[in-house]
Amino acid sequence: MAEERILPPEPELNDRSDAGERLDLLPQIRNLMPFTISDRFRIPLRSGHAVDRGWTAATGHRPMAVTWHWSATATLDECSALLGGENPLRRGVASAHYAVGRGFAEGVDRYVSLEDRSWHAGKNQTVRWDGRAFAGDDDKGSRTSIGVETVNLGYARAGIPAEPDWPRADDPAGRWRMRIQPWTRQQVEMMISAGREIVGRWPHIGPRDHHGHHDICPDYKVDPVGFPFAKVLRGIYEDASIPDVWTPYWTVRGRRRALVELGYNVGDGGVWTPECDAALHDFQRRHGLAPNGRWSTFVGWKVRDTMSLLRFATGS
Ligand SMILES: [Zn+2]
Repeated sequence: MAEERILPPEPELNDRSDAGERLDLLPQIRNLMPFTISDRFRIPLRSGHAVDRGWTAATGHRPMAVTWHWSATATLDECSALLGGENPLRRGVASAHYAVGRGFAEGVDRYVSLEDRSWHAGKNQTVRWDGRAFAGDDDKGSRTSIGVETVNLGYARAGIPAEPDWPRADDPAGRWRMRIQPWTRQQVEMMISAGREIVGRWPHIGPRDHHGHHDICPDYKVDPVGFPFAKVLRGIYEDASIPDVWTPYWTVRGRRRALVELGYNVGDGGVWTPECDAALHDFQRRHGLAPNGRWSTFVGWKVRDTMSLLRFATGS
């Protein structure tokens, strides 16, 4: 398939001291920053490969959501060697629809058409795309959502030391703290482009239909904790009013604060206590979410909805 030259959605003109005043420079500046969405690692639509034709009748022959991942690789080439093309290392085991590199020079690889299913999630899955409890194979991520890998090392660990700018985030169960490699600004722009391609084809997928792998497979996956969901979604939907229901809850401290505001007893000590766990289970149950005590994108949205109602009711 032919490669397309894609321009970043919003060139960062302000970064260039010589730009912004002379509009006639714009075309040249834009040409400095194109990137490619490439089909060089397209996975064949044949048996033995981690791809299935079409979406299932269970979801009305369409995907219901987008699942974002981190690749746990340093480069797009490493990610594509694992997942993409005719003969990847994980051939017939795992794939994704897209993989987004760290910068414009790497670009984006598109492994699977948006008409078909990639095998990016479903193993050890306990939550479905809308936050409700997983009820069977029809709810599998690989049957219901579009998978996007983003090239990112994940959390600091042996052999992968944290850089000073790696933010801290707690795992969804509040048991351990991680240092997360940040996504780059160029990468965010490319994720926005891929997201626009997805939503262009499947416009029923709204801002609330995006989640991370760990949201549907808690206790099995932690990717992509720390993902810049708000930035990416505001770009995809060109809507700056999309709330950030992720960053405030990266840490146990933020989650405790939210539960207190919702009227729960969270116990003492600044840690994730049994009271916190009980409160989150109760909150999830009241809102129709899988009651698993794991902080998630779905919890973040419901917390925000509930707080908005509370503020409205009290006039504050
Ligand atoms: Zn993943």
